Amino acid sequence: MTRKAVVVLSGGLDSTTCMGIARDRGYELYPVTFSYGQRHDREVEQAKKVANYFHARHHRIVDIDFFKQIGGSALTDLSIDVPQAGVGEGIPATYVPARNMIFLSLASAYAEVLGAEAIFIGVSSVDYSGYPDCRPEFIESMNQTVNLATKTGTTDHGLTIEAPLMHLTKSETIKLGTRLGVPYHLTTSCYNGGETACGTCDSCRLRIKGFKEAGLIDPVPYQIAIDWNA
Ligand code: ZN
Repeated sequence: MTRKAVVVLSGGLDSTTCMGIARDRGYELYPVTFSYGQRHDREVEQAKKVANYFHARHHRIVDIDFFKQIGGSALTDLSIDVPQAGVGEGIPATYVPARNMIFLSLASAYAEVLGAEAIFIGVSSVDYSGYPDCRPEFIESMNQTVNLATKTGTTDHGLTIEAPLMHLTKSETIKLGTRLGVPYHLTTSCYNGGETACGTCDSCRLRIKGFKEAGLIDPVPYQIAIDWNA
């Protein structure tokens, strides 16, 4: 029987790489995308294209309006500016309160119903922005928690939260994904969510740096000219 994996898929570079890794490990892919009031719908649209690309049999889109109701993040509250001038001190304004804990809770419920063994999430503690829910301590703790909280964790094979990018830099992730045939042209990373990426927000800058360090050219278009050899 084919093993199943739930993949938390945002339509961004990291989660799309996780699709490639999970496929490479022989899993049948069950992507789940959270529409949580992020500034733009583009992520969800790109996630649909990625799910199609990987021929996922089911792609769940989960609406969570609650994040927009409570605000507290530049990604869900339009009155808070997205940082443009590089990563500053501390936890940035783009942090969304307890996002990965909530996503993994819902993903584990889905995984249990599916009989899936693994949940993939594209967090990294290397090039991360200081988000507490991207640290290995959190993933280890959550792995224990979802097994304590579920029937499968207590009476069956249980669930493993896989964070295969945890110790990879952005460029290492891109190199790995490129080797696995990950469709980066379908991904979106820009916090501003335009048809073409801004090239200046923190997320764009990290992505551009990653492609440059990998010695590759990012296939998505940018609003500004980028010297990929610099
Ligand atoms: Zn951007």
